[in-house]
Amino acid sequence: MTVNLGGIIVTNRFIPYGKQWIDEDDIQAVVEVLKSDYLTTGPTVKEFEEKFAEYVGAKYAVAVSNGTAALHAASFAAGIKEGDEVITTPLTFAASANCILYQNGVPVFADVDPDTYNINPEEIRKKITSKTKAIIPVHFTGQPCDIDEIHQIAREYNLIVIEDAAHALGARYRGKKIGGLSDMSIFSFHPVKHITTGEGGMITTNSKELYNKLIQFRSHGITKNEDNYINESHGSWYHEQQFLGYNYRMTDIQAALGVSQLNKSDNFLERRREIAQIYNQELKDIEWIKLPYQESERESSWHLYIVQIDEKKLDKSRREVFDYLRKEGLGVQIHYIPVYWHPYYEKLGYNKKLCEVAERIYIKAISLPIYPKMDDIDIDRVIKVLSSI
Ligand SMILES: *Cc1c(COP(=O)(O)O)cnc(C)c1O
Repeated sequence: MTVNLGGIIVTNRFIPYGKQWIDEDDIQAVVEVLKSDYLTTGPTVKEFEEKFAEYVGAKYAVAVSNGTAALHAASFAAGIKEGDEVITTPLTFAASANCILYQNGVPVFADVDPDTYNINPEEIRKKITSKTKAIIPVHFTGQPCDIDEIHQIAREYNLIVIEDAAHALGARYRGKKIGGLSDMSIFSFHPVKHITTGEGGMITTNSKELYNKLIQFRSHGITKNEDNYINESHGSWYHEQQFLGYNYRMTDIQAALGVSQLNKSDNFLERRREIAQIYNQELKDIEWIKLPYQESERESSWHLYIVQIDEKKLDKSRREVFDYLRKEGLGVQIHYIPVYWHPYYEKLGYNKKLCEVAERIYIKAISLPIYPKMDDIDIDRVIKVLSSI
């Protein structure tokens, strides 16, 4: 994209919607592991898990190969099995619901709140049946959902809560960090998320029992803990596969990057909040844009900054706005196509209009670029391009 600034032709760089920030010290941390004895699941994974658990305020953390594996492991540990219904939001990445299908469970979609875009506890209540086993709420964009209300429902119906906190590293609910509040919480370290390990994920929990299950699930269902053997040990080499697990291990190479990134997490978070504040301030007078609403007693971690386009006021479609922004070099995105609109889910029997609030949000939403390495010139360009429409 080129622009003419008073005779000077400037080539604007593409601004993605999200991106990692890797420094020399991150690179050095990885190089050190490469020169060490352990490349996979060794001391650095352990260090990353301990530091991560401490950072989010959970007793235990289990590192896995990606956020989707974290959701799968959590669904297994929750005991989700064939025919169990699990309630989640349609306004999320497909992985939040796919993990239920991995366990042969049934995803049940509850509609979202029109202001926060988070799963609506009243809608959860409407979807509860005798088969309901768990709830997987998503802290959409990084704004914590109604955890107290969701816990109340879980207590009443004896349900497990797995928070999909892929957007919410560092976010706070009533002053408390996301990660130690429910049975389990999962995180992703994909490069667009708050910190990255290339690919990577984490499950946090306060339960020793769930922790042990997760560790075992990550590595084929095998245990080397002799206190738990089903059969008699044959000797010190002995180990047992007790259920069908997977190889979902994280490498020490990834964990080294994770530890190094985690040290910077607060700075990353601060910059995300700064960018959100600038957008809030500078876009508030554009009458065809609806800004993100923030509930009280929540501190969003601002993984995404989503605006809604009022097509009538603007007299342009969301699609036209999206294409124009892309043409201007802004890597805007749409989060998300409602999960059950995907052909795979349609084939399973889900129909349109299941969650009308979520659908209305989807058709108006555009995610603006937001990531810590964005500089003031990038932010300014986003604002100028939007204002020029
Ligand atoms: C990114 C993401 C995941 C999956 O994480 P991966 O590491 O990409 O597997 C799950 N849920 C949500 C809401 C996400 O944004």
